[in-house]
Amino acid sequence: MPNSKTVEVHLDGATIISHIVRSIIGLQQEFVALNLLRNTTFYPILNTRMIMMEIFPQLGKYNHQQVVFCNDNSSGLKAVIAIHDTTLGPALGGVRMWPYASEEEALEDVLRLSRGMTYKASVSGCNLGGGKSVIIGDPKTQKTDTLLRAMGRFIHSLGGKYICGQDIGTNSHDMAIIKQETPFVSCVHEKAGGPGDPSFATAWGVKAGTQAILKAVYGSDSLTDRRIAIQGVGNVGYFVAKYCHEEGAKITASDISEEALKRASDEFRAEIVDQDDIYSVDCDVFSPCAFGAVVNDETIPKFKCKGIAGSANNVLAEDRHGVALQKRGILYGPDYLVNSGGLIHCQEEVLGEVVKERVLEKVSRIYDQTLQVFKKAEEGGISTAEASDRIAEERIKSISEIKRIWAE
Ligand code: NAD
Repeated sequence: MPNSKTVEVHLDGATIISHIVRSIIGLQQEFVALNLLRNTTFYPILNTRMIMMEIFPQLGKYNHQQVVFCNDNSSGLKAVIAIHDTTLGPALGGVRMWPYASEEEALEDVLRLSRGMTYKASVSGCNLGGGKSVIIGDPKTQKTDTLLRAMGRFIHSLGGKYICGQDIGTNSHDMAIIKQETPFVSCVHEKAGGPGDPSFATAWGVKAGTQAILKAVYGSDSLTDRRIAIQGVGNVGYFVAKYCHEEGAKITASDISEEALKRASDEFRAEIVDQDDIYSVDCDVFSPCAFGAVVNDETIPKFKCKGIAGSANNVLAEDRHGVALQKRGILYGPDYLVNSGGLIHCQEEVLGEVVKERVLEKVSRIYDQTLQVFKKAEEGGISTAEASDRIAEERIKSISEIKRIWAE
């Protein structure tokens, strides 16, 4: 048995190297190290071993329920569907299509995003679980009807445990194509019988979160003569500007699109500032509606706002930035609560019918929910981001506890 002995020696070597790599640079960087070792004799053994070892610890870290890897050679589909938690209902979350640099990056993204959806659904009172999916590829060049329909078939094979929607790299037309293969899809375009883009509902929630901040800071939630600085006046930012302007607010806007800026200036008399100047605008509420991680070590010292509420996901670059805002006396409306209007819109679609007035009424609850988060944060001496997490976790825990009652 000389060969088996050789194998055993190699595996032990791999384990040692794996532990060394892990202890030096941490889990997420292991795959980078793996690439550096690509041309060494260790690579084949180390690679197999690491992949087998890394997936379950990653799923276990935040207790993900199920992860489905989807492959279809004919359409070129390579996708991952992650279901984080279904205590509150079927997992709902968008299909993101992105040219990820590696499969590991795609997996990391889908795990992070699906967990975020669990918290968003819970804190906003939706009866939905957290899920997300990613398609590895460039939406500009690789998105085809066949690929989307293949994705639809994989979603259908989960029997309704996961319901998809639009996200970065996909849109309501794509959802209409997926609908040809499965009913477990939301955000379907109007022409295919769906309610279309939920951005107006997301913006309504951002306005509700903005008013909660005003109420907490000034004792009045009136928008009259308040200044709102909006970063990104695209789909959501445009409606945030519109709704706030309609109630008397003054708008400052930044964008990289001249067209978007012109529209905001023409329709809402928005004051336009350069991209980097939006952080230091003397305003009541800063509203990030373009991209995440805009609250960071560089921007926090620049802020002159009283509070932050926008549609962008993962606004805090790191958790500690929530505490940094608290120390500076800036009230942060947690992103996944304030931007949950789109999810509420999707829930209505899943329940059967989207009636705009009913959606807006439900989304308006974000005002009270945000105030509740502020109260919990104050009482507990914690950041509003942490308070929001706790409320979301408490709701999931309380619902999971009643499930011990047999009721088949
Ligand atoms: P969008 O692409 O329509 O709008 C984003 C805008 O930001 C665009 O006008 C773009 O030109 C601008 N922008 C890009 N880089 C910028 C920069 N450096 N400075 C200023 N502006 C910049 O996207 P959207 O649908 O309005 O979504 C905005 C954000 O909200 C995204 O992060 C999205 O993930 C999040 N979100 C959207 C929804 C929804 O219902 N659409 C729901 C939840 C969260």
